[in-house]
Amino acid sequence: MDLRTVMLMLAVGSLLFGLLLMIFQFNRNNHQRVPFWVAAKILQAIGSLMLYYRTETYDAVTMLANTALLLGCAYEAWAVRFLSGRLVRRWVHILTSAGIAALCVATIFLVPPYGLGLVFLLQSIFFILPSLFLFNKSGLKFSLQSILAACYFIAGLVFLLGGALCWGAPVYALRLDRSVIFNMIPTISFCIFLVSGFVLLMLAKEKSDMQVKEIQKTLEKSKIRFQQIVETAIEGVLIFDNDYKITFVNKNMAKMLGYTIDEMLGRPYASFFPKEQLVVYNYQENLRKNGDDSVYECRLLKKDGQEHWFLVSATALLDDSGRFEGSFAMLTDINKRKEMELLLEESNRRLTELSNTDSLTGIANRRCFDATLEREYLRLKRSNSKLSVILFDIDYFKEYNDYYGHVSGDDCLRQIGGVLEYCINRTVDLAARYGGEEFACILPDTNIRSAVIIAENIRKRIQSLEIEHKKSLASNFVTASFGITAVQYSPEISLVDIVSMADKLLYKAKISGRNRIEYAELNVKGRDDSLNIIGKKG
Ligand code: GH3
Ligand code: MG
Ligand code: MG
Repeated sequence: MDLRTVMLMLAVGSLLFGLLLMIFQFNRNNHQRVPFWVAAKILQAIGSLMLYYRTETYDAVTMLANTALLLGCAYEAWAVRFLSGRLVRRWVHILTSAGIAALCVATIFLVPPYGLGLVFLLQSIFFILPSLFLFNKSGLKFSLQSILAACYFIAGLVFLLGGALCWGAPVYALRLDRSVIFNMIPTISFCIFLVSGFVLLMLAKEKSDMQVKEIQKTLEKSKIRFQQIVETAIEGVLIFDNDYKITFVNKNMAKMLGYTIDEMLGRPYASFFPKEQLVVYNYQENLRKNGDDSVYECRLLKKDGQEHWFLVSATALLDDSGRFEGSFAMLTDINKRKEMELLLEESNRRLTELSNTDSLTGIANRRCFDATLEREYLRLKRSNSKLSVILFDIDYFKEYNDYYGHVSGDDCLRQIGGVLEYCINRTVDLAARYGGEEFACILPDTNIRSAVIIAENIRKRIQSLEIEHKKSLASNFVTASFGITAVQYSPEISLVDIVSMADKLLYKAKISGRNRIEYAELNVKGRDDSLNIIGKKG
């Protein structure tokens, strides 16, 4: 092959190869980066192109072309070293490059063929070096590395032979000038260029694939580790897709709900919520779809239909562009704690109820009466309405007890409690046993006339119970006397004022013959602050 043609082909080939490598380097999917490589090919292209124009005499241009070619070969050797898994120290390649440049300058001062001989010797070094790097890595096994190593080694030997010939037998070398040295060596260079380029690319790809495999292996390992953590966790773990269907469930979660993992996979999360808990579900789903995390308590349905309390710590899963793509939840079994809490709540409620209830009659007691009166009177502050209080006392009850006995007395009190329960039925009203055989009613938003009607109803009902009372001077049956007052809020009227007003009126009813009602509104009269009775009914 003609030397100039070889050089041109080398120049174009190296340039194309350099461009190919650049694309390879900048490919995002390719994890393998090979430093020095593009530089090597560009330098080789420049050197070859210069030699294409200058082949006859050894002058400064030839020297520069050789320098570029040798530097290109040195960089290729470093690229091979890198691909075989080792690094090249910066000072090594800088010093080598400087050495090559210096020796190439020296060649211009040497008489032919010593200059060319020196270039060949240097060239042989940079072919034998990569072959050693590759042999060192692959041993003697048949592989891509070993093929490439053999190619480099043979090329190195040919250049070594050429160099040795130029220096050992210069006269002979000059005579063989055209036939051996100038023809064989460029041809070998071209062959090496083709083989090395191809094999190096394959090597880089192989290494890149290995790295991908390595990454996959590491990923697989961390996935297994993650699964182990999730499986051994005491908590339940659930992962949902963007339709809130279960895509992952750990063993513990399935066990807590009494399902198998397969039974739970693909099921909508909502199907585990009892109807009355769907409000919680909808609220939480909205939060998650807005990308918000939260911790909440909820009841979930077990396979056997029973409900179970969980504390849920939920996190929204968003994709790279921040769109909702599912959620992750850790569930802690809080059923026992929750049951205890509910029991405690219930017993607290019962206790409060008991502490406000009169055990004999089952209606409210004095404590409840006092608290309600205080609350309702304060409420009057904010309205213009009136509050009425009825106080009544059974007539001649001491005589009843003495004559019929305490057990009958108690029964009588119970029956009167029943009358109150029947007659006082607005939820805001309160009927209470005030103490002994005295009862009281609080009627918010009720004027005196309405209160009198209610009291009259109670009075008549007590009488119509027809509980025999032979010792009563008022009737043949058990009767009661009533004192009623109605009040509008005033800072000058206290709770005691209200009760004592009702008591006074009750006393009045007693002395006026019993089994009757006395009523009066409670007002603040001018400056003297005395209570004023403005009406009565006997
Ligand atoms: P008056 O018509 O003036 O009200 O006369 P009274 O006898 O009803 O009034 P007094 O205050 O003298 O007597 C109240 C009686 O109520 C005394 C007590 O024996 C009776 N008593 C109070 N609490 C209870 C109770 O819980 N059970 C029973 N059986 N009797 C009670
Ligand atoms: Mg009494
Ligand atoms: Mg009495």
